Amino acid sequence: MPATRIWLKNPLAIFTANSLDARGGLVIEDGRIQQVLGLGQSPGSPCGQVFDAREHVVLPGLINTHHHFYQTLTRAWAPVVNQPLFPWLKTLYPVWARLTPAKLELATRVALAELLLSGCTTAADHHYLFPDGLENAIDVQVEAVRKLGMRAMLTRGSMSLGEADGGLPPQQTVQQGEVILADSQRLIHSYHERGDGAQVQIALAPCSPFSVTPQIMRASADLAKALDVRLHTHLAETLDEEDFCLQRFGLRTVDYLDSVGWLGPRTWLAHGIHFNPDEIARLGAAGTGICHCPSSNMRLASGICPTLELTRAGAPVGLGVDGSASNDASNMILEARQALYLQRLRYGAEAITPELVLGWATRGSAQLLGRTDIGELAVGKQADLALFKLDELRFSGSHDPLSALLLCGADRADRVMVGGQWRVVDGQIEGLDVQALIADHRQAAAQLIAG
Ligand SMILES: [Zn+2]
Repeated sequence: MPATRIWLKNPLAIFTANSLDARGGLVIEDGRIQQVLGLGQSPGSPCGQVFDAREHVVLPGLINTHHHFYQTLTRAWAPVVNQPLFPWLKTLYPVWARLTPAKLELATRVALAELLLSGCTTAADHHYLFPDGLENAIDVQVEAVRKLGMRAMLTRGSMSLGEADGGLPPQQTVQQGEVILADSQRLIHSYHERGDGAQVQIALAPCSPFSVTPQIMRASADLAKALDVRLHTHLAETLDEEDFCLQRFGLRTVDYLDSVGWLGPRTWLAHGIHFNPDEIARLGAAGTGICHCPSSNMRLASGICPTLELTRAGAPVGLGVDGSASNDASNMILEARQALYLQRLRYGAEAITPELVLGWATRGSAQLLGRTDIGELAVGKQADLALFKLDELRFSGSHDPLSALLLCGADRADRVMVGGQWRVVDGQIEGLDVQALIADHRQAAAQLIAG
């Protein structure tokens, strides 16, 4: 009887992100789901371990598809608390330009740990700051991901259009096109894993229309196609951005995206708010993914993503917490709650259900990252799971366990499994001294602001 074969038995509730009945639980072996058991069913052959899940609500591990880990160092900073996107960015850029490898390492660990504790097993990060001394930013992040045992899509971001050339970021934060492309190629060859169970993947991610040149957008698309990796950027987040595109390129955002060869299924976009019906149809036909970031969109008063029009048109929709300077929490289960409520304001209560939103946070997000091995519970999928208990005051008196997660505001998983390994047990990350991490990170954050 293999000791590694686990029966996660009879959960209180389980969301599979598909139509399978898993009320009898899951059998997990060699890091994958080997059997999905319906109500009253038992495993076909004996299991070395039985985990009694009668107190747990089980979800596929949540998947975060947009973040800027480094921004955990500039959360709730007074000068930008009440600013919209463009002035918010202009105030923060000079602070961010002082980022160092040691500070990025701490910020990455904090963001990942926070995500993991909220039930997230796979996280995408959009890192586009490479000031002098921080050329190896993504290498630093790869190391942090591996230490925590999560999965990540680390995107090699870039900024190449500085203030001097009519862009938004200050000159010291932008890089030359050749440097960006050479490093992108190096990172893909060094770290990008392919196939089922990949732990670290790399994508290419020029930052936004107002911080990169069309040349780097086109060259990134060519490189992504040649090396078969994904493409990511911010798009249609604010009306300021739309005005910028009209003035500089004479194009609306989606026309611009199309003009640089990005309108396709390899691309996923953060925010995707200000689209007209024709643009939604084009994004859907192209299969371009949209990462909805509700907290950030409310925080910066950017607008509301037209999620249902996008999915009806054929565009996959996933969820993201966005960077910690505009959320300012890296909590995926709370982000699902925000999505539920923000989207209800647009579409009404009946159209936006907890299951729909949890589907975005799991299966939808997996689609954005181009992954078919995670995001749902089915035979052969990776054993990436988030287990929540409903034993806190906030859940007392609740009836439907799955709805209670979002409606009562669950904010912390009791257990999290990645590839068959428990990474969170009793609400604690295995092998991580969180208090020591907080102490170091706070000090780094204070230093960064002080300059
Ligand atoms: Zn962002």
